[in-house]
Amino acid sequence: MGDQEQAYVREAFATNWIAPLGPHVEAFERELAAYAGCEGAAALSSGTAAIHLALRLAGVGPGDDVFVSSLTFVASVNPILYQGANPVLIDSDEESWNMSANALKRAFEDAVRNGRLPKAVVVVNLYGQSADMDPILTLCGRYGVPVIEDAAESLGATYKGRKSGTLGDYGIYSFNGNKIITTSGGGMLVSNDTAALERARHWATQAREPAAHYEHTQIGYNYRLSNVLAGVGRGQLEVLDDRVEARRAVFARYERELGGLDGFRFMPEAPYGRSTRWLTTLTVDPAEAGVTAGDLIAALGEANIEARPVWKPMHRQPLLQVYRYYPHEERDSVSDRLFEQGLCLPSGSSMTERDQDRVIECLFARIKGWRYRHESA
Ligand SMILES: *Cc1c(COP(=O)(O)O)cnc(C)c1O
Repeated sequence: MGDQEQAYVREAFATNWIAPLGPHVEAFERELAAYAGCEGAAALSSGTAAIHLALRLAGVGPGDDVFVSSLTFVASVNPILYQGANPVLIDSDEESWNMSANALKRAFEDAVRNGRLPKAVVVVNLYGQSADMDPILTLCGRYGVPVIEDAAESLGATYKGRKSGTLGDYGIYSFNGNKIITTSGGGMLVSNDTAALERARHWATQAREPAAHYEHTQIGYNYRLSNVLAGVGRGQLEVLDDRVEARRAVFARYERELGGLDGFRFMPEAPYGRSTRWLTTLTVDPAEAGVTAGDLIAALGEANIEARPVWKPMHRQPLLQVYRYYPHEERDSVSDRLFEQGLCLPSGSSMTERDQDRVIECLFARIKGWRYRHESA
């Protein structure tokens, strides 16, 4: 937490605006929209809820197809299933690790051939970096399909000078505990369509009509953010840019120390924008490095340091086995390789250089250990 969160929370208590809604909610929406550079924002209980409402705004319903990035966290896809729609999974490219316009193009061509255009495209911006939005927006524009940007991991990043999450018709952010800023749990739906945001707020409050006797004509959800948590969010927004700098510094130091090792390739920063480096991620090619990403995760684990693989692609999840998948090239799946070789290192904004040295030393010890055994064998 930064300095101001407690003051905002105290204010919520002092004025007895606890939940639901209240002045912090409205202020947080206004401040986040101003930060992102879009017309409006709706504060919600999670990023997942924001994706769900965006899909409903796009008119996604039972039996519809929705194109979505395969390399992501399951929360990008679950709301498609909530709506009874069919996810169609799209691979990543090498440059950004995000949605491949190449794969998206083939998916659209098949959709036209089958007379079944998708109702929406969900583009995920992974690990702090925007997807290459221009070719994606051109394709979606050509077919008249709305774009939802899952920017849960890219709040604070830019694409050609604009804030990630504001390039599509709808964008979503998450304030879950693991994200770059957090309200302990929460999310935001952003758009330039303020009437759509008003509909989303209505659905998020049980679609309650303005009548004293609780009148309902549509299905609703309990998806709004509390005034207390919005107070935390306002404080966090004030430190967001510092957090971005801290995460970038962590990434830069890992890259400086480890980037020269054989087979180590850090997630590239695409030239069109600035990544927040929310997590430091890299791939380890076992043929060159002599170790696998899994070996390194295990070695770090023994030193009580938590590291993780890259997201397991959705097309490899038992839950989603029945849905179609479009790899980058007919016979080249980029997300499969990223998953098999990927490694996420500890990257917290409050990490000290000493903390980071421990991670680096542990990695070196594991690699040297292998070299020693290999050479003596
Ligand atoms: C965290 C995350 C979400 C979901 O956000 P919640 O606030 O946890 O519901 C969605 N998509 C991606 C890519 C995420 O990392």
